[in-house]
Amino acid sequence: MFESLSDRLGGVFERLRGRGALSEADVRTAMREVRVALLEADVALPVAREFVDKVTEEAVGQQVLRSVTPGQQVVKIVHDALVDMLGADTAELHIDVTPPAVIMLVGLQGSGKTTTTAKLAKLLKKQGKKVMMASLDVNRPAAQEQLAVLGTQTEVATLPIVAGQQPVEIARRALQSAKLQGFDVVMLDTAGRLHVDQALMDEMKAVADISRPQEILLVVDSLTGQDAVNVASNFSAQVPLTGVILTRMDGDARGGAALSMRAVTGQPIKFAGMGEKLDQIEPFHPKRVAGRILGMGDVVSLVEKAAAAIDQEDAERMANRLAKGQFDMNDLRAQLAQMRKMGGIGALAGMIPGMKKAQAAVDQVGGDKVLLRMDAIISSMTPKERAKPELLNAKRKIRIAKGSGLTVQDVNKLIKMHQEMQTAMKRLKKMGGLKGMLGMLA
Ligand code: GDP
Repeated sequence: MFESLSDRLGGVFERLRGRGALSEADVRTAMREVRVALLEADVALPVAREFVDKVTEEAVGQQVLRSVTPGQQVVKIVHDALVDMLGADTAELHIDVTPPAVIMLVGLQGSGKTTTTAKLAKLLKKQGKKVMMASLDVNRPAAQEQLAVLGTQTEVATLPIVAGQQPVEIARRALQSAKLQGFDVVMLDTAGRLHVDQALMDEMKAVADISRPQEILLVVDSLTGQDAVNVASNFSAQVPLTGVILTRMDGDARGGAALSMRAVTGQPIKFAGMGEKLDQIEPFHPKRVAGRILGMGDVVSLVEKAAAAIDQEDAERMANRLAKGQFDMNDLRAQLAQMRKMGGIGALAGMIPGMKKAQAAVDQVGGDKVLLRMDAIISSMTPKERAKPELLNAKRKIRIAKGSGLTVQDVNKLIKMHQEMQTAMKRLKKMGGLKGMLGMLA
């Protein structure tokens, strides 16, 4: 699984390697290749598109870290975006309620629903839960018997079969009998169909209505690629899913289903089926999977360390300058970058009087866009102008506005904001610098 995607991405990063600096064009070319790689791995088109847009935006606006190459930085950005796409942390089952908790499994016929019901039951039993399984599949001949056999194999109780009962009645009976007999968890294995159809959906909704499940897990066969994605979006539109279980992750699926599931359903992949045997199920670990796809764990941690070091240096440099009452456009830009990264004013920036106002403006208009605009203006200044903003006359302002694709008015606004901050900084110095201010606050 993921092998060809992994190879393709490796190739993209290989071509970025050894370059001193990455231009925007380099990043865009690389991202076009990433997009093709994702689509070939069966990732749903909108998901691939969003992924690439996000990575491009991050990579283009990124400040270059010392001690790592820009190519390595791109690997880290792609890694983080993959983790994001897969769902950050491992998602748990939420079944800590007054027993019995109800877990309902839904999905197409042959997706591995019945097997997965038994696998999960076995897992929960190992965790000390008293589990009962019930098959609501009255369509497929011998489906209920199949679950009974799995119950015997796993030594998990199954609801006795009553011929002729309909799914809603079976669900009701399962709940009653679980309550009476003190079961912690009831697992409902619902009927599948060959295709998504309305009768199936209505039946599922009726069962969910009377059993009020804590978890409704969609079981999907990862080998079906794009079709798995379609199934997931259909189910998710009709029933309130709480998670996805991907089966046959042991096969040679191209992996796109796994990568698309979260975006398509809005719910995390909770487990992965790794074989036919009843203990071949694993919690789904997004970080591990992302790591395996990229196969570049060392690069990722290298960049993390470099970023942490730079943050530290930045903070120290800033503290020194603040103490001297200095605050030029480079300082403003560093603070804006920090705001972007942390989604709010950082510790040091919080001490600069004008920064709070800037943050309020940003909050009002909507985050990153404003920060990016301010950054674009500062980027269009020459190094001299950045160090000595008093050089900025009308002619220079027009040039900067053109360069940043904004108006002179925008440039003026930024300059005014900077001036206010600088004045505040000078006042601060007169009061004995940061220490003096901290003293006043104490
Ligand atoms: P259902 O119709 O959705 O209930 O599907 P079943 O549970 O009957 O599974 C159909 C087939 O898929 C069975 O032969 C299972 O052994 C097999 N199967 C289920 N999960 C996995 C898995 O994770 N890996 C592999 N290799 N086979 C699986």
